[in-house]
Amino acid sequence: MKLEYPEIKKRAAKLKFRTKAFIDGDFAAAQSEETFTTENPATGKPLADIAACDTPDVDRAVRAARKAFDSGVWSRLKPGERKRVLLKWADLLETHALELALLDTLEAGKPIGDCATMDIPDTIHCIRWHAEATDKLYDHVSPTGPENLALIVREPVGVVGCVIPWNFPAQMAAWKLGPALATGNSVVLKPAELTSLSAIRMAELAAEAGLPAGVFNVVPGLGETAGQAIGRHMDVDMVAFTGSTEVGRYFLKYAAESNLKRIILECGGKSPQVVFEDALDLENVANNAVGAAFWNMGENCSCGSRLIVHTKIKDELVERVAKLAKTWKVGDPLDPRNRLGAMIEKPHLEKVLGYIAAGKAEGAKLVMGGRRILEKTGGCFVEVTMFDEVSSRMKIARDEIFGPVLSVIPFSTEDEALALANDTNYGLAASLYTQDVNRAHRAARAIRAGTVSVNCFSEGDITTPFGGFRQSGFFGRDKSIWAHQQYTELKTVWIQLA
Ligand code: NAP
Ligand code: MG
Repeated sequence: MKLEYPEIKKRAAKLKFRTKAFIDGDFAAAQSEETFTTENPATGKPLADIAACDTPDVDRAVRAARKAFDSGVWSRLKPGERKRVLLKWADLLETHALELALLDTLEAGKPIGDCATMDIPDTIHCIRWHAEATDKLYDHVSPTGPENLALIVREPVGVVGCVIPWNFPAQMAAWKLGPALATGNSVVLKPAELTSLSAIRMAELAAEAGLPAGVFNVVPGLGETAGQAIGRHMDVDMVAFTGSTEVGRYFLKYAAESNLKRIILECGGKSPQVVFEDALDLENVANNAVGAAFWNMGENCSCGSRLIVHTKIKDELVERVAKLAKTWKVGDPLDPRNRLGAMIEKPHLEKVLGYIAAGKAEGAKLVMGGRRILEKTGGCFVEVTMFDEVSSRMKIARDEIFGPVLSVIPFSTEDEALALANDTNYGLAASLYTQDVNRAHRAARAIRAGTVSVNCFSEGDITTPFGGFRQSGFFGRDKSIWAHQQYTELKTVWIQLA
């Protein structure tokens, strides 16, 4: 269904928000009855007041999750039955796809075109994919001698806490929920404080699909309160976190200081796009480079924020990127013609503008953009921005900006290019462009990143694992069968045969 701007605005105005926590199969206010306000970053206006959950609410949710887990109502259900419920949930998500897309657009300032055609379809596909895997995976019998039978089985971990960011609200929830629920765990999810609405609605629809009470709970709230309560909880068996490296570290500390719960982290990035002098079709490279850098306003963990280009082709590529980037319009995220919406909130907008100022101060050459725009709307809009002649030592080349700011870094030799690509604390994703198959393999192996895409910008698909090397992650992989398995414990059952 292709909708035009006026119709989309009408639908958005009619949306009803679920603003309470979802605990033990039902909506619940925070015990303190406190709320916090969520805003639309494209207008600066409040959208809704959301239940501000804290330790007592997290306790309640964890108790419900534990009770459901121990009862076996989900954890010991036949895999095929779990699959049936999850597929029904996916169908309901599909029925309400436009509503979910609008919730993420309103709360996160993300373009409706992205939410409706990528985020929500990927969310649904992710739930379906893990649901389908449920009754197709076998455990193992180990090659012992004839006196023994050793079974190596996978069991759900138990109560899984999920703490997620605001940049892909529904999708980041699905990347955790799909595999965690398919493998039989119970979940307590804390969405980002800036984007709670789609997660709460997803929980309501899961209950409607027949997910038993207590299996999937949502506790909206702040990181320092609800997030920390999950991290430090003695009865949470595992936390799956996506967010900044800085907050990821806290979860390792929380685990160390509490019950040594398993922690998996998906964190930030400063991903390189390396363009060798023999790259085929610079227009295609430019197209990919623009997508990598500016998709989702650059508020993307795999954002290709460093364009590392051979000096021979740099000027031509910069020109093509600038020309294409100008066609990526910034504006009301409800208007499907806009490719960029609003930055998530004012403090973040200011942080991005601060990086742009630092780029100028450190001597990088501003090729385009650099300013806040559409201020009269009350929204947090910033121009698509590109710096040339950036050196690897500059702040804009080192820090994750999380905004639409691309840094162009020139190189002359392959060794230099690979050293620049790896000159970062992160290692989430990378792209490289070359026609030489040997160089492509060589470079793909040399770059320290969880996903390396060749002659395109890609995060792979649901069949491929996604996660980071170095400070981009800690054991975590989202998507694929590896994600599925990380929500299980490995158990050996050793039997003495008579
Ligand atoms: P963030 O500030 O690290 O927050 C992530 C989550 O942690 C939020 O739910 C947040 O709650 C919570 N939190 C904050 N402080 C906490 C604390 N002291 N204790 C416990 N929980 C706490 O990240 P963000 O700003 O939402 O998202 C942007 C980051 O996510 C970027 O670095 C990006 O690269 C990363 N990311 C990574 C991936 C990946 O797959 N690797 C995907 C998407 C995003 P509040 O909302 O209340 O602060
Ligand atoms: Mg935050």
